[in-house]
Amino acid sequence: MSRKKTRRPQTEMVRGGLERSRFHETSEAIFMTSGYVYESAEEAEAAFKGETERFIYSRYANPTVAMFEERLRLIEGAEACMATASGMAAVFAALMSMVRAGDRVVAARALFGSCQYIVNDLLPRYGIETVFVDGTDAAQWKAALAKPTKAVFLESPSNPTLEIIDLAMVCDLAHKAGAQVVVDNIFASPLLQKPLEFGADIVVYSATKHIDGQGRTLGGAVLGRKDFIGGDLKTFLRHTGPSLSPFNAWVLLKGLETMQLRVDKQCDNAAAIAEFLEGRKGVVKVLYPHRDSHPQAALARRQMKRGGTMIAFEVAGGKAGAFKVLNRLGIIDISNNLGDAKSLVTHPATTTHQRLPAEERARLGIGEGLLRLSVGLEDVEDLKDDLAAALKA
Ligand SMILES: *Cc1c(COP(=O)(O)O)cnc(C)c1O
Repeated sequence: MSRKKTRRPQTEMVRGGLERSRFHETSEAIFMTSGYVYESAEEAEAAFKGETERFIYSRYANPTVAMFEERLRLIEGAEACMATASGMAAVFAALMSMVRAGDRVVAARALFGSCQYIVNDLLPRYGIETVFVDGTDAAQWKAALAKPTKAVFLESPSNPTLEIIDLAMVCDLAHKAGAQVVVDNIFASPLLQKPLEFGADIVVYSATKHIDGQGRTLGGAVLGRKDFIGGDLKTFLRHTGPSLSPFNAWVLLKGLETMQLRVDKQCDNAAAIAEFLEGRKGVVKVLYPHRDSHPQAALARRQMKRGGTMIAFEVAGGKAGAFKVLNRLGIIDISNNLGDAKSLVTHPATTTHQRLPAEERARLGIGEGLLRLSVGLEDVEDLKDDLAAALKA
């Protein structure tokens, strides 16, 4: 199958990993089965001893899930991939299977709320030292990584303020400190940013976001080198059980087929809306990675193919102003999900980041008037009309 090696990413998104059954189906089959049967007792024994490669139990592996893992692996250009039931299961498994009591983890401060809980609250309970740095400050990374460290965890662009972290710089420092770098690449999607090319060791996804991209299912994945994914991570996942359902894997396989088209169009719409919002009456600030007004526009252009599907913008009038805008929107839905075909907007200070103390939110730039907009596939003129009407008054 040498022909496979030369296929381009868009072809892999449609065909990568496809394993047809003896029925020669066009679309990937859904293997809704928890277990598998053996021709003989000897075959079962050999499978459990690891002498033969076969499906044993769907908590370990499943043919539909395996197709999804292989397709995503090809798109990412990673050695190995394992799927999980959600993005948080992917983050938790990646970190938890890597660290031991006494280890040290350095993380960027601007994290998704649940990631922040894992690093800040959970890991220290098990004797793991965790240190937070401002992700955009090279001096803080340098100081934190002057000591031996096991893992570095970061998100770029970050949620919700779309901070960009210099991946090559952090990976270089991390490797010198003996750390493996885990990048939450969810906001960029597998299409816009390839952390492995900048030196990252592990990439994690919430497949719930752009990979499904149609608001149907939760899912996640961890990608990286074979030794880690097929070693500590695989053992951790097998025995703790956050397995992806075969049905959800099938939905995600269908999602991958159209991901390029969707994300491209969503980036077009997002860039147009960022332009529309900037300087508009009632809008204090717009953050969009590829716009000149973004504090790290140059780095964003170096690291990301396009500006992405997310916009953060601050409206006048603090919380009351932000709520007024949200409540006046007629097309864009109020929802904390993102990467969806439907445009969704959320007020981070009272939803995704309400768990954080106010001073920590202020430090992260999550003001009371900040809104996070995930731009969908609607006609961009309708989205502009919707925002214009909501911002009026
Ligand atoms: C959504 C999200 C997660 C968690 O993914 P789930 O699929 O909801 O568990 C983690 N990190 C970031 C940046 C996210 O946006």
